Order: sequence, then structure tokens, then C-alpha cells
Amino acid sequence: MSASTAATRAWSGEAWHARVDRRKGSAHGRAVRLWAGLSVASRTLGRVQELHDAPLAPLTTFRLGGPATRLVTATTDAEVIAAVREADDSGTPLLLIGGGSNLVIGDKGFAGTALLIATKGFALDGTRLELAAGEVWTDAVARTVEAGLAGVECLAGIPGSAGATPIQNVGAYGQEVSTTITEVVAYDRVTRETVTIPNAECAFSYRHSRFKADPERFVVLRVRFELEDAGGLSGPLRYAETARALGVEPGDRVPVEKARETVLKLRSGKGMVLDPEDHDTWSAGSFFTNPILTEEEFAAFHARVRERLGEGVEPPAYPAGQGHTKTSAAWLIDKAGFTKGYGSGPARISGKHTLALTNRGGATTEDLLALAREVVAGVREAFGITLVNEPVTVGVSL
Ligand SMILES: Cc1cc2nc3c(=O)[nH]c(=O)nc-3n(C[C@H](O)[C@H](O)[C@H](O)COP(=O)(O)OP(=O)(O)OC[C@H]3O[C@@H](n4cnc5c(N)ncnc54)[C@H](O)[C@@H]3O)c2cc1C
Repeated sequence: MSASTAATRAWSGEAWHARVDRRKGSAHGRAVRLWAGLSVASRTLGRVQELHDAPLAPLTTFRLGGPATRLVTATTDAEVIAAVREADDSGTPLLLIGGGSNLVIGDKGFAGTALLIATKGFALDGTRLELAAGEVWTDAVARTVEAGLAGVECLAGIPGSAGATPIQNVGAYGQEVSTTITEVVAYDRVTRETVTIPNAECAFSYRHSRFKADPERFVVLRVRFELEDAGGLSGPLRYAETARALGVEPGDRVPVEKARETVLKLRSGKGMVLDPEDHDTWSAGSFFTNPILTEEEFAAFHARVRERLGEGVEPPAYPAGQGHTKTSAAWLIDKAGFTKGYGSGPARISGKHTLALTNRGGATTEDLLALAREVVAGVREAFGITLVNEPVTVGVSL
């Protein structure tokens, strides 16, 4: 039996197929098809899978990026740690991949080891939840909602793995994981030990954390949450759009499944739920973060808005603590003239949401970055604000 056949067979167990079915369309699902279809040199080390010169594009929701020198897939914490140690001991660059839904990988690929984290583990004890890093986030949310628990129901539909949720403090529709995460269990590449990091030491903020700030240090293995038993009701709805769609007031609670369904429906309408048939979802979700401005920056921005769009126009403004104001990146992009569907090449703005840059099929990472740079320059020229990318870039920058 050839090495690649052995690798393919190792993936073809029943449990794995059940997982693939649930994950069709996800990067993990595509990973399996990638394994099944590849003829590049590969080998099987116990249960750890390894490929050489392995395409990374199928592991990302953009479907972009060149190959990795080596792709290792780990299905247990021990395998993750062993692969990380091996890379660190040999001084090999390491790229961690979960669902690939927040990654922009350069066309030249990654010269080093790409480690696909495919660990499994869902443990619910009362209101306490522990997820292995490789669990599919949106499936885990569905299971907590099925159990009647509140706390993450508005984060339904966010692609990717549980282990990546603390990295950028995933958030949507009025919830962020920083409010329910109690601890993150991680492998510390500096001390070479497994550590338990309490919420207070995660430095969570808007789409940021100590993990994102220091990406070479921690490999998330498990994430622990404390959910709420509100008798089958959701948490208080903090997002006006969700409350409106449900016909209730912000702050009200609704049956938790109703909240999840409503969020999924709202997200689908914006191309924010993965659908392999819909190029509007071949994205990383929001490509830019919402700018947070100081008082002086906001005053200057306000003046630019009035000058450009007229005296009566008020830009979106939300309090962001310590005299700061958050405005909307989607609004800035739209008002700078980049409307839904903008672009004529294979990379365009989504037809459903101005904040998502998308691959229409056949794009390269350079096409995507050219579009992103055009948007950044246009918004800067119109409003004096420089947008910052939300996804993590690998081997490239804006
Ligand atoms: C259609 C769409 C909608 C989206 N909507 C939202 C949204 O509403 N809100 C939101 O916040 N995000 C959203 N995103 C972005 C993305 O889904 C999230 O950031 C998600 O948490 C990324 O998870 P992932 O497993 O795909 O991470 P990946 O893309 O695989 O990795 C992202 C980063 O995390 C690192 N990483 C991954 N796993 C680990 C680990 N175990 N330990 C340490 N580092 C790790 C990677 O190295 C990389 O730097 C959306 C994306 C898409 C495509």
C-alpha cells in the first residue's frame, strides 16, 4: 500500500465520515476531501497525518493561498503538542489552522509546517462547557441551545473552530465569547508547558486578545465557558436588529432557539453563513474591523463627513469606553463609493455586505489584496480613516 493510500484509508473511518457529513462546506470537510484526493507525497505517523507540498487554499474559506511545505493534521491534544514541539525544536515556522475562516494566505504559500487542529471534545456539565479546539464552533453553539442554555446563541453561524474563538474574541449580534469564556487551556511555546489561562489574563477587547497580540506563543487546546440557565430563554438581546426581527425590545429575552434561528436568518441574508454554492460567502466575514476613534479623531471625521456628504449627515457612532467612539467600517466603505458587488475582477465586494471581500472563483490572494488596498485608500481619501484588516495575513500584508 502506498503512503498516500494509507493516509486516505486512515481518514475513511465511519466516525470521520459522520463528521464530514455534518461539516460539508466547512474547511474541515474540505480538508478531508483534500486528503482523499491528493497524490502528493504523504505519510502516516500513528494517527497523525502528514502531507508535503500540500495546497492550503482548500483549507480556507477564501479558497486562496499557495501550498505549505508540510501539512500535519492532529486529532488529539498530545498530537498537537508533539507537532508544535517538533516544529519548534527544528526551528521550523509553524502555522496553526482551525477552520481557515479568518486567514489570508499568500499565493506563495507557507514555508514551514501548517498544523490543522482537528481535535474533538464537547463536554457539558450543568452550565459549564468545555470544547476541544478543533470542535466546529457553530455545531457546538447548536448543542448548547438544544440543552436550553444561553450565552453563545447569537454567535451561531460563525464559521471555524472553537479554539480560534478566543483569538479575536469572536463576536456578533451583541455577544462576544469574552463574556462567557472562563478559562483557556493552551500549550505555551515559551515555557513548553500546558497552561490554564483565566479570562482576566486573556486581555480580551474588541476583536482582540493576548493570543492575537502574541501569535507565536500560545496554541489553544481547550476553551471553557460558563453559560446561563435562564429556563430556556436567551440572554438579554443586546442588538437592535435582532430585537427588531423578533418583535421585542433590546434587553428582552426570547426562547433561546428562536434567538439562534433569527441570528442565522439575518446572517444568511448578509452572506455570513458558509454556503459553498454562494461566492458571497467565499470570504473571511468582515474584512475590516470597525474603527475606534479618540475624541479628536472623531471630531475631524465628523467634519469630513459633513463636508463630503452634507450638513445633515450623521455617521454611525457607538460609545467604545474611555472617551472613544466606534464607527462602522461598512458605512465608511459604502459612503466612499464601494457599494455591494463592487469590482470587476475575480475578487469583489460581496453582493450582500459591503464589509466582506470575496473570491468569485479563480481569484488569487494578490487580486484580493489589490481590492483591499483600493478600499483602504478610497476610505482614507474620503474620510481620513485608515481601515485595518480583521483576518490574519500569512506571508503577505495589506
Ligand atoms: C462567512 C464568515 C462570517 C464570519 N463572521 C464572523 C463574525 O460574525 N464574528 C467574528 O468574530 N468572526 C467572524 N468570521 C471570522 C472567523 O470565522 C472567526 O474569526 C473564527 O473564529 C476563525 O476560526 P477558524 O478556526 O476558522 O480560525 P483560522 O482562520 O483557522 O485561524 C485564525 C487565526 O487563529 C489562529 N488559530 C487557529 N486555531 C488556533 C488555536 N487552536 N490556537 C491558537 N491559534 C489558533 C490561526 O493561526 C490564525 O492566526 C467570519 C468568517 C466568515 C468566513
